[in-house]
Amino acid sequence: MANVVGEAVHKGLCCSCGVCAGLCPTDALSMEIQENGDLAPCLDAERCSHKCHLCLDVCPFSEGVHNPRKRNLELYSDQPDAKGNEDIGWHTRSIVGFRRDEVLRKASASGGLATWCLETLLKKDIVTRVAVVRLAKNPDKGFFEFCSASSVDDLRQSSGSIYHPVEISGIIEEINSNREERWAIVGVPCLCAAIRNSRRLRKHVSFVFGMACGMYQNTFYTEMLLAKSGVDRENIVNIQYRRKSDGALPSDYRFRGTDNRGSGKEIQYHGLPYFLGKNAYFRLNACNFCMDVFAETADACFMDAWLPAYRQEPKGTSLVVIRNREVSELFQQGLDEGEIWIDEISPEEVIASQRGHVRRKRELIYMRRGMREPDDTGRTKPTVVEKVNWLLQRRAQKRSKTAWANYGRSKYGRFAFWAHMIDIMLTQSMLANMAKMISISKRFIRILIHSK
Ligand SMILES: Cc1cc2nc3c(=O)[nH]c(=O)nc-3n(C[C@H](O)[C@H](O)[C@H](O)COP(=O)(O)OP(=O)(O)OC[C@H]3O[C@@H](n4cnc5c(N)ncnc54)[C@H](O)[C@@H]3O)c2cc1C
Repeated sequence: MANVVGEAVHKGLCCSCGVCAGLCPTDALSMEIQENGDLAPCLDAERCSHKCHLCLDVCPFSEGVHNPRKRNLELYSDQPDAKGNEDIGWHTRSIVGFRRDEVLRKASASGGLATWCLETLLKKDIVTRVAVVRLAKNPDKGFFEFCSASSVDDLRQSSGSIYHPVEISGIIEEINSNREERWAIVGVPCLCAAIRNSRRLRKHVSFVFGMACGMYQNTFYTEMLLAKSGVDRENIVNIQYRRKSDGALPSDYRFRGTDNRGSGKEIQYHGLPYFLGKNAYFRLNACNFCMDVFAETADACFMDAWLPAYRQEPKGTSLVVIRNREVSELFQQGLDEGEIWIDEISPEEVIASQRGHVRRKRELIYMRRGMREPDDTGRTKPTVVEKVNWLLQRRAQKRSKTAWANYGRSKYGRFAFWAHMIDIMLTQSMLANMAKMISISKRFIRILIHSK
């Protein structure tokens, strides 16, 4: 009988969410970090009943690609005022805003609306528990873990974005063991989809909130940044991926690791973190087969306001796509009570803020699936640069994981790591320069034509 390990993990399609492991009725699945740094379920074949499909039923990638649209339609198309959109899916409203408390806004990833929304649900007793992410007490499954927060203070300790896979099996066991609680869960789009795929969880999880997502890197990404930051990964007491600095642009955030001796060197996002992300180092393979930019199965999706009007605001600004009427009313009350500032924003602007991800995750999905022509899951053809980039990214993704596992962790391992990546790195940089030159030449030719 097929199971998630055969159909998703062995095919490189596990997104590390852990929902399958949490729901397995015989406890046959446990989440473990694999040799290549990916967090994935391992199967205890003797425990598996081999009769149920539960793990496959909830896995967002069980069909080889995560396309959230069917579930989005089922959950949200009949909400009052629901509007369909090719890229965002069914939703009722899109807003821009931030929480007015300056300290809490600064501590958050963007404008702090996610934490504000979760706090409000708890304060109003609409939910009794919220699943959020925190530094792991036991780092066996990576540096971060889900924990359940039942107070505003608890919640505030978890604000900020964690660029590290976090699995939720422990929380699912908690949900199943105490049916009295009403939960809100926050996560990346694939995790939201896995939660929504389970009928059992739908009863106890009153709200699911998503983060817009371009992709995820495995735990080696964080290990590498910690090494660069100069801290000891065995004794970590804090990791911040997005430290904001006063007066700087919101995109100019920094990574900082802290071990038991103190804080390490800050790393600017535009340096190593951006390089690793852009070139697909340590990326989860599943992310190549995900079409879900805007967490379409979530009641609301939070993201950065990467738009010209908000790019200059150092404290950060959020965009939110709302799909649930109750959540929409909550935001309206927050505005009336002066806790937050929000304004309406068009879906086109929301899409513009995530243009690169929409292109890669939605429009070019068929190229990554190895299909010759677009079907209903893709619309436009890739350029030559996009095709070559995809081939290079696949190589970088695989080789970076092997090179880090084999060399990166040792004392002088970072040099050996880069030595193993050098040919891909040079080709990627040549391609990027070529793409830049093509775009400048095209602009120049356009100007010439217009001036004639
Ligand atoms: C992996 C990842 C990729 C992202 N990619 C993009 C992107 O490409 N474009 C974009 O605009 N925005 C992206 N975001 C969302 C963005 O970084 C902010 O999280 C979002 O704008 C919310 O900001 P906020 O200030 O409202 O949230 P905050 O008030 O800071 O609250 C954030 C909440 O999210 C929870 N959280 C953080 N990380 C995780 C995680 N890994 N899994 C589950 N829960 C988590 C925290 O526990 C906290 O409750 C991404 C987020 C993540 C985690």
